Amino acid sequence: MPSLYDRYPFLMNYFSSENVSKISHCILFFGSDATVQYELALEVARLLNCKEGGAQNCECLNCRWLRENKHPAVRTVSRVDYKPADDKTKTVISVRQTQEIKKDLMVTSDYHRVIIFCDRDDDGNIQGINYRVFQEEAANSLLKTFEEPPSNTTFIFLTKDKTDMISTIVSRSQCFFVPAQSEETRDISLVSGVMQGYMSRDKNEVWDLKDELLNIIKENGFTPTINQVENYLNSLLKSNYDNAQLRQKLLNDLKATALAKKQDLLGIQTAGVIENLAFALFEV
Ligand SMILES: [Zn+2]
Repeated sequence: MPSLYDRYPFLMNYFSSENVSKISHCILFFGSDATVQYELALEVARLLNCKEGGAQNCECLNCRWLRENKHPAVRTVSRVDYKPADDKTKTVISVRQTQEIKKDLMVTSDYHRVIIFCDRDDDGNIQGINYRVFQEEAANSLLKTFEEPPSNTTFIFLTKDKTDMISTIVSRSQCFFVPAQSEETRDISLVSGVMQGYMSRDKNEVWDLKDELLNIIKENGFTPTINQVENYLNSLLKSNYDNAQLRQKLLNDLKATALAKKQDLLGIQTAGVIENLAFALFEV
C-alpha cells in the first residue's frame, strides 16, 4: 500500500513537519473512511512527537512507538477504549471517561499528547463518532479543555460527517475532509509538477504555465491533461473545504477548466484555450 504521503499529498503537505507545530489543537477529520482517518491521526501524532525532523522512515523511539500504536502519550478514546475499570458503560464515551481524561491531562508530560476520539464496530474496526456515542453531557464536560488545553496537547475527532458531531466541537475544530481511497486515487501524475503552488506564482509566469501545460498536452493529448488538471483542483478543493476564500478561488478555477473543455469541443485552437485557462488560474 502506498504511503499516506502518496495517497494524500495535499493533507500530508499541510501536516508536514514544518507546519505541524502550528496546527490547531482540535482537529476534526470527516469522510467515509474512518480507518484512513485513524492512520492520519497517528501520523499527525508521530510528527508532533518526533524530535528528529519527522522523516517518514525515522527510527527514533517516538516514531517506533507510534508505528506500533503504543506511544504512552497517544490515546484512543472510544466506547470500548480507555475505559476506567469501574466504568460499566458499553455504548457511549462516558462522563466517567472524560473525567479520567481531565485527570490525566493535569499531569505534565514530556511528550506531545494526542487524544483520538473515535468509535469501534463489534469487530473492533475503527469507526467515526456520532451523537449517539459521544453525547452532549460527556462532550460538554470537555469543552473547556478543548478550548484551552494544557500545553502540548492535541485532540483529534474522527467522524463520517460534520453533522454527526456536536456543533460546539465542530466550531472549535479545524476540519479536514478526508476523501475515501477510491476518490483520491484519481491520477494527477502528469500535471502535479506544473500545478503545484500555481496560486503563489508570480504574475508574469502566466506564459510559463501556458507553455508547460501545452508541452504536457503535446505528449499526452488535451483530454487526459485537462482531466488531470481537474482532478488536481478537485483534490485541492476537498482538502481546503473549510477555507471560504480558497474554496471560491478553486471553484472559479474548476469553472475555467470546464470552459476549456467546452472550447476544445467547439474546435477552438488549443493554444488559445490553454492561454485563457492559464490567465484564469492566475486570477486572484
Ligand atoms: Zn522520529
